[in-house]
Amino acid sequence: MDKKIRTRFAPSPTGKMHVGNLRTALYEYLIAKHEGGDFILRIEDTDQERYVEGALEIIYNTLSLAGLEHDEGPDKDGGSGPYVQSERQATGMYMEYAKMLVEKGEAYYCFCDRERLDSLKQVIEGKEISIYDKHCLGLTKEEAASNLDKGIPFVIRQNNPREGQTTFVDEIYGEISVDNSELDDMVLMKSDGYPTYNFANVVDDHLMKITHVVRGNEYLSSSPKYNRLYAAFGWEVPVYIHLPLITDSDHKKLSKRSGHSSFEDLIEQGFLSEAIVNYVAMLGWSPEDNREIFSLEELARDFNYHNISKSPAVFDIVKLKWMNGEY
Ligand code: GLU
Ligand code: ZN
Repeated sequence: MDKKIRTRFAPSPTGKMHVGNLRTALYEYLIAKHEGGDFILRIEDTDQERYVEGALEIIYNTLSLAGLEHDEGPDKDGGSGPYVQSERQATGMYMEYAKMLVEKGEAYYCFCDRERLDSLKQVIEGKEISIYDKHCLGLTKEEAASNLDKGIPFVIRQNNPREGQTTFVDEIYGEISVDNSELDDMVLMKSDGYPTYNFANVVDDHLMKITHVVRGNEYLSSSPKYNRLYAAFGWEVPVYIHLPLITDSDHKKLSKRSGHSSFEDLIEQGFLSEAIVNYVAMLGWSPEDNREIFSLEELARDFNYHNISKSPAVFDIVKLKWMNGEY
C-alpha cells in the first residue's frame, strides 16, 4: 500500500530566509505536490535563546510570495495556521513522549549539575568533547522519584548503546555509519522543561506522519542520532534527503548572514518571485531535458528528487538576471 506523501518545512525563526532555506521549502513542496501529497509548515521555536524578533513574519512572507502554500495546521483566526512547537510544548506532549522512553528503559532522568558535567569534558585533538558517563542511569527508580519530589532540576537523556554502529541511509549521500561510542546520551528534555531541538523534531515528524524529510546537509552528521530515537520508539524512519551546500561564486558557503542572498533582498533588488523560485529549483536539480524556464506547476509536475545532485550548487546572480528577463 502506498502511503500519502507528506513533507514539511520546519524552519527555526532565527533570521532571514536565504536561498538555501527557500530551496529546502521549495523541494519539500514539490515532492509533496508531485504526488498530490501534503506540504506542512512547522515552526521549530523551542530554542528560546535563538529566537529573532520578526523572523516569523519573514518566513510567512517569503513562503506566501513564493507561492508555497501549506496544507494544514491547527485552527487559527479562521484559517489553518502552521504548527508551532512552543504552542505544542505548552500541552506537555513532548514531556509525555520523553517519559514514555523512560518507562521503556530507553531514556533516564539525569540530575547532574553543571560542575559535574564540566568535569566530564575532555580535549581531544584540540576539540572539546563531552560524552556523558551514564552516572544517573545507575539511580534506582526510588532515588530518581525522590529527587523529582525534592524539586532537583533534571534533564531527560536518551540511553544510547556505547558499542556497535548506527547506520543511516540518505537518498542523496547513501549509507552513513557512525560508531555508537560517538553518539552520547543526548538530552531530550532540558531543565527548563523544553524539548531539545532534535527530540521535538523527531516526535513531530512522526506525529505528523511525515514521509520525506528534506534539509541542508549540515544536518547529515546528526542524522544517526535521529535514527536512534526512531529505534527507541519503534517508529518507522522517513526518507531523508539532505541537500548539498549552495556556495557563492567564490565557493564560500551562502548563509543567512550574507544578506545579499535572502529572498527579500532579491525581491527588493527587483527580481520577480517566479524567477527566483525557478532559479532556486535549479540549484542542485535538473530536469530530464534541457528546459530552464518553469512555472511552479510545471516544476511540481516534473520534479523528481532522484535527480538531485550531490555536488555543491553555485548561486550565480548573472544566471538569475537572465531568468528574470525571461518572465
Ligand atoms: N529547524 C531546522 C532549521 O531551521 C530544520 C531541520 C529539519 O528540517 O529537520 O534549520
Ligand atoms: Zn546525571
